Amino acid sequence: MRNPDDFNDMDVEGLGFGSLGGAGAEQHDTIKSRMAEDGSGFDYQIRCEKCGKTLVLTAPWPELIFMASGRLPPNNSWLYNKKRGCMMPANTCSCGEPLRIGMTPEECRRNLNAGISAQKISPQIIMQFQQQNGLT
Ligand SMILES: [Zn+2]
Repeated sequence: MRNPDDFNDMDVEGLGFGSLGGAGAEQHDTIKSRMAEDGSGFDYQIRCEKCGKTLVLTAPWPELIFMASGRLPPNNSWLYNKKRGCMMPANTCSCGEPLRIGMTPEECRRNLNAGISAQKISPQIIMQFQQQNGLT
């Protein structure tokens, strides 16, 4: 009955999302997100837990397209946090504290859909980008 092979590929499959897909959800109370004013992506407003400074991080559409596919953008702007099961910005606050925002592919897709609704990016451009970068 039990197949020992069942769990063999657990940690090598993509970045290990799946059942952990909603792990970033508990942070939504403190992080405000909105479309970037110039329409180039999404802004996230984060309050540093250490020094109290408010920082704004912008994730341009291409980064969101990568992350919506469960992949990290090649520019190293995001890191995968295995413990939290989400992607976190590579930059830190000027005080050195990590920016406590956790993104999941699901959330990135939601933000992309908001961009489509607002006509800041089209599904065709997203599809083209996915094809060019092997994300499909
Ligand atoms: Zn700080």
